[in-house]
Amino acid sequence: MEEDLIFKKATLALGGGIKLPEGFEIPVRVSHSTSGPGAGGDSVAFSFHGMRVKKSVSYDRGEFELHERDDGSLYLTHQGEPFIDEIRFDPVVYHCPEQAFFTLDPRCSFGCAFCASPRLPAADYKGLTDEDIAKKCLDAYNEMHVVAVSLTSGVMDNDVDRTADRFISCIKAVKKVLPDIRIGIEPYAGSESQIKAFKDAGADEIKLNIQAATPEIFAKVCPDLDRENILRCLGHAVRYFGKGHVTSNIIYGMGETHEDLEKCMCQLCEIGVIPTVRSLRHNKYNGESLKKAIGEPAPVTPEEMVEVARIHKDVLSRYGMDTRTCKTMCLECGCCDLVPFRDL
Ligand code: SF4
Ligand code: SF4
Repeated sequence: MEEDLIFKKATLALGGGIKLPEGFEIPVRVSHSTSGPGAGGDSVAFSFHGMRVKKSVSYDRGEFELHERDDGSLYLTHQGEPFIDEIRFDPVVYHCPEQAFFTLDPRCSFGCAFCASPRLPAADYKGLTDEDIAKKCLDAYNEMHVVAVSLTSGVMDNDVDRTADRFISCIKAVKKVLPDIRIGIEPYAGSESQIKAFKDAGADEIKLNIQAATPEIFAKVCPDLDRENILRCLGHAVRYFGKGHVTSNIIYGMGETHEDLEKCMCQLCEIGVIPTVRSLRHNKYNGESLKKAIGEPAPVTPEEMVEVARIHKDVLSRYGMDTRTCKTMCLECGCCDLVPFRDL
């Protein structure tokens, strides 16, 4: 991918919303997310030059502006200047393009400082049953291009076992109606037996997030989670799911250095886990909790996002790992990050 486009994706991914032309009819369903950087907001996905982003849209304002030519093609300007010459809407299945990605329960009793999900209004909890989710997956599969089902969840009442059971029952319900669909899960797991049970139920990929590059930052932003146990569970996950099917997310922009980040990526690669990296996003839900936990670090810039993506790609290459072995969740979607081997 051209340098210029990589930088533009970073600018878009980190920047504000997109202003739509007056009276423009959005040709796709608008997505209301309860997880990921856009949690709590309405957004749509776009594709341009083989890349994807998910952005909030509005008729009133936006850092970027969408324009329609007479032939119906679309382009973007940024602060009044030409930015992306050709852009399209990318239909969201559930939460993201080409995947039915569900949050089983956004409510969470763990107070990770960066996480918007547990701070969302109660009305955002949709209370879908396993059967509701399985039916939605099947209907979507019959109507749209769907490559995977992905599931995430918060942990209610500190009950990791009950959350694990919910993942397992939901995986089974989806497998019943779509036996061949690839399923990726992002649970907070507590034990080896849970990891094995996820695999036995039919999950193909698992993401157990290490969240912060250093134990010190982790202790500040995830005071209720156990970093050592996450690392142990990642080791179990590689044994049950296989190298190339286990990922772990590191959020950057929380005061770590690039050396810290690289070291954490290497630590994960050494045990066969593909690190994923996500820049910290400040929003109305996490502002206060982040300030209390880590103060007010400078926002991640597009230049830094590109630099981190290069470090990420270099580390993966050194360990013979590739993001394309993962076909579910964020690596497959790619809307919020620069993904090595896909975007650069
Ligand atoms: S465990 Fe932490 S990151 Fe996960 S949903 Fe709960 S608060 Fe958010
Ligand atoms: S990259 Fe992940 S968090 Fe972002 S829209 Fe895609 S699936 Fe959601």
